[in-house]
Amino acid sequence: MNRKGIIIVVSGFSGAGKGTIMKALTAKYDQYALSISATTRDPRPGEQNGREYFFVSNEEFEKLIAEDGLIEHAGYVNHYYGTPRKFVEDKLKAGIDVILEIEIQGALQVKKQYPEAVLLFVMPPSAAELEKRLRGRGTESDEVIRQRLSRAVEESVGIENYDYIVINDILDDAVERVHGIITAAHGAPERNADFIAEIRDELEKL
Ligand code: ADP
Ligand code: 5GP
Repeated sequence: MNRKGIIIVVSGFSGAGKGTIMKALTAKYDQYALSISATTRDPRPGEQNGREYFFVSNEEFEKLIAEDGLIEHAGYVNHYYGTPRKFVEDKLKAGIDVILEIEIQGALQVKKQYPEAVLLFVMPPSAAELEKRLRGRGTESDEVIRQRLSRAVEESVGIENYDYIVINDILDDAVERVHGIITAAHGAPERNADFIAEIRDELEKL
């Protein structure tokens, strides 16, 4: 039975813990490919070009759009972010699940192009905990933290478009919930049409 790759879109308010969950998930389970986005924002301390993001100039980003090199792209708090097309298409063709950690406008663009994609929204246990994590990360100025929190208010209106929410309380539990949702998605009949048809054929021949 050949297993088809699924696109898993992971969104969530800045500071909810998406990056942390993805890091732990891919360290624990090696079957997932994590898409690396292009962005015009500056690297944070410790971030490496080609690992967390492809850090590009505005001109390079516009060139990627013009070449149809991005599946989706969106503006987020003063910068552009987009998903390179080739990596995602290659992984899906190879039957590998590919995870896109992107914001909500991009998630909806992906759902339009790939209706079978599974959309997850990572939530903090509370708004106060979100602010605490965002400040505790210590990577943004007060001004940017305020902008990101106000963006969270806007994004909170779109959560109903997602297939599942995942509450990131205890990290390991959240990782297991994400893995469980993806595993369950592979069991949907529409993702196993060939296998079902094959068994039907075999049954008729018995
Ligand atoms: P995002 O990618 O959603 O913006 P991060 O993964 O950078 O968020 O996490 C934001 C901050 O919260 C980081 O400092 C991270 O270490 C912390 N964090 C993430 N998950 C948890 C958790 N389950 N419990 C406590 N702190 C967490
Ligand atoms: P950060 O600057 O904290 O790394 O990311 C800011 C926001 O941009 C997050 O919500 C993150 O999920 C989103 N993001 C990262 N890469 C992409 C992308 O390729 N496309 C879109 N639409 N959003 C992205």
